[in-house]
Amino acid sequence: MRGQMMNFPLTIPSILEHAAANTPDQEIVSVEADGSRTRLNFADLALCAARAGRFMLDLGIAPGARVATLAWNTHRHLALYYAVPGIGAVCHTINPRLDPKTIVHIAAEAGDVALFFDADFLDLARALRDQVPSLRHFVLLGGADAHPVADWPDLLHFDDAVAVAPPLSAWPAVAEDQASGLCYTSGTTGNPKGVLYSHRSTVLHALVCGLPGNLNIRETDAVVPVVPMFHVNAWGLPYLCMLAGARLVLPRNRLDGASLAALFNEEGVTLSVGVPTIWLGLAEFMRASGTTLPRLERLMVGGAALSRNLIAHFEERHGIEILQGWGMTETSPVCTIGTLRPAEAALPQGEKAALKLRQGRPLYGVRLKIADGTEAPGLTPGELLVHGAWIASGYYNRDGSDFQSRWLATGDIAQIEPGNRLLLTDRAKDLIKSGGEWISSAWLEELAMQVDGVESAAAIAVPDATWGERPMLIVKTEVGAAVTDSAIVAHLSGSLAKWQVPRRIVFVDAFPLGATGKILKTELRRRHGASA
Ligand code: ADP
Repeated sequence: MRGQMMNFPLTIPSILEHAAANTPDQEIVSVEADGSRTRLNFADLALCAARAGRFMLDLGIAPGARVATLAWNTHRHLALYYAVPGIGAVCHTINPRLDPKTIVHIAAEAGDVALFFDADFLDLARALRDQVPSLRHFVLLGGADAHPVADWPDLLHFDDAVAVAPPLSAWPAVAEDQASGLCYTSGTTGNPKGVLYSHRSTVLHALVCGLPGNLNIRETDAVVPVVPMFHVNAWGLPYLCMLAGARLVLPRNRLDGASLAALFNEEGVTLSVGVPTIWLGLAEFMRASGTTLPRLERLMVGGAALSRNLIAHFEERHGIEILQGWGMTETSPVCTIGTLRPAEAALPQGEKAALKLRQGRPLYGVRLKIADGTEAPGLTPGELLVHGAWIASGYYNRDGSDFQSRWLATGDIAQIEPGNRLLLTDRAKDLIKSGGEWISSAWLEELAMQVDGVESAAAIAVPDATWGERPMLIVKTEVGAAVTDSAIVAHLSGSLAKWQVPRRIVFVDAFPLGATGKILKTELRRRHGASA
């Protein structure tokens, strides 16, 4: 027997309508290129999105068309997050840190018809105009007064266009399973592939991530998505914060420690999310300047493993709770969050920290299992498979990539521990195979980062005539710290077999970072991988 409840499509405009009706005066703070901060509220944002929607319909942008953005975390980008799916089109957020050839390839494959871009990306926009035939409309995210571009007569300016466009009186009806967004994987382990999110998957992801047992986002929170809005929908926060009525503080691309600390303190930020590299930079700034962050309550770390030294700095020294999440572009991205259960929260700090170094437990709506295993927890690592309400069932425009109703193979090596807690031990491509035995690069890195003065570490495999591969460790120390390779080797030898201990340790001032701020192991292998 069918239930008799109404059908209420879970769509992105429904979030905007809810936010504008319930918390119209909630503030959005958006950092501009000159460092000033624009302030608007949810009602203003809804109006801006409704005008932008009208402007795009008048340009002839049809339902299903891909509309690209090359933009930082700003209120203009936020308006597009709602307006593009609002008119039934697909918001294709492009990562400007990818190399220009890849960006051209991605925009052409997506068949983007319009590009909205920040002034910083004017040259890139010109390259796209010249090389991507499907692109017909170019809109600079700003006004013509501030950003005149004399040699591009048909270039449009967002602020001016939106100021004169009458707002849509209602959003056109869209079905909840329609495509709402497109994001390409950053290609750290292969060619970028497009992931096509739907309205429904986006709404469900936001709803579940915000629950009290997960990110617990409330109207009293002020939230900074440090994770870029061009990367997996900024982990859903632009939708989640407006759904929850939380204050949204958008940092543009000012993500260095000093800028973030000032923004957090001046805006009373309570929660922020981003990759570990960002938090290491903030920690370094806090140590060097003596700055504290009294209003910040919690940080979420994802995209790469949380390290012991981040827990020590933020949680143990400064009382800022730190949570780890795991996910990938194909999974919207959040699949697990490492909140502790009440009994676990009462454990001694050392045991709590050990649990927090795990990647967390799956959210409602996501199932995990290990390849060839069952969904029951076990201790044998293998490839992690995932299935759920916001997991891709195939890649955009790729024949034969359809994994509908099956499981998505993540390329991560993991085990599911008792308590249903995920522990990632490696990426399949980062595993080190020495003398026929696997060595986990994640474990080597975690051990190295336990040594006082080590800020971050990366382990790679280097070819070896006898062993096939041997591990090499590349280390960045904290500013002013004097760490020796023998101290690291001594510490590693306490937990590893002799053959697992790297023979060489290389010290570097900085790591090569990929387009999403993660350590780029492909580049480390190129630079250091000749021999152990
Ligand atoms: P790319 O795969 O192109 O780097 P993604 O941002 O989709 O882009 O990266 C997803 C990958 O990041 C995961 O498959 C995993 O290897 C890694 N990752 C994400 N979160 C964590 C985490 N908490 N700990 C360790 N690795 C993580």
